[in-house]
Amino acid sequence: MKTPNDFPRLRLAILPTPVYRLENLSARLGRNIYIKRDDLTGVALGGNKVRKLEFLLADARRQGARVVLTTGGAQSNHAMLTAACALRLGMEPILVLKARGETRCRGNLLLNRLMGVQVRFLDTDSYQDVYREMDRIARQREAQGDKCYQIPVGGSVPLGCLGYVDCIRELAEQTRAMGVSIHRIVCATGSGGTHAGVALGTMLYMPETRVTGMAVDTDPFEKIVPALMRQTAELLEWDRPIRDEDVQLRAMYGAGYAIPSPQGERAIKRLARTEGLFLDPVYTGKAFAGLLEMAEEGFPPGEENILFLHTGGAGGLFAAGEPA
Ligand SMILES: *Cc1c(COP(=O)(O)O)cnc(C)c1O
Repeated sequence: MKTPNDFPRLRLAILPTPVYRLENLSARLGRNIYIKRDDLTGVALGGNKVRKLEFLLADARRQGARVVLTTGGAQSNHAMLTAACALRLGMEPILVLKARGETRCRGNLLLNRLMGVQVRFLDTDSYQDVYREMDRIARQREAQGDKCYQIPVGGSVPLGCLGYVDCIRELAEQTRAMGVSIHRIVCATGSGGTHAGVALGTMLYMPETRVTGMAVDTDPFEKIVPALMRQTAELLEWDRPIRDEDVQLRAMYGAGYAIPSPQGERAIKRLARTEGLFLDPVYTGKAFAGLLEMAEEGFPPGEENILFLHTGGAGGLFAAGEPA
């Protein structure tokens, strides 16, 4: 069996990210709510994609890539962070984004502009169309002698998931040093790679810990997440069976992906007003709303220590405009 350490990796993030107890919120909820600050990964505005990109861009470099292409929605955190990391490594980023949501020069698009990144908008709802366009651009550039590396949406491929398997190794070490055992981890599930890495990582490093993914999109994550876990386990040459029914999800997308929900907006304000911490309207606000719902319903007996994985998304906060 391998560990993420056995794979090529570039140092991009500032690690370990902090873990601590949210004192005010814990007092109000009558549970210990911990947070892991993966919004502080240290590239651009931070966020979860940096951990995935350490493995993905190591692979790109190993293949001799000069150009990195990726995709996402107009306000994609993943695309912005891929661009920032690629620039740092001296590679040229090209972003092919869906022209959906806020396409004006705000939020992450403003950051892309500041970085001078080439952004191509595609008026489509289908990633099939996007990948076809990415292929076309890549072929064109390869004909000019520039080796290209393509990263699918969210970097949610097994190599990217290794970043979150390793995040749980890091967390296990931190919580052991704190003398705290975490009973449940809550994270946003957007393209599924973070959830898959976390779930696989807990099987490896924190076997007593449960994971709930808060779905912020309508994709069939009950199939996507276990499939990604199996592929990542295979990459690690790990042969423990992974069952679909072990993957826990809660639907928090509201009216749909990237459409702010009233619960999410309330969660953003609540954390801002109790802890001086900011969530985002697309991912972490909705995910934290799921945690608050679970707290209201009552966590299962014995679950005293709950950890929220803050996956970032600050750019999205500045694209959304005034909350309701
Ligand atoms: C991408 C993203 C997520 C979701 O991660 P996936 O691995 O795509 O499921 C969560 N939070 C933020 C801020 C993100 O940008």
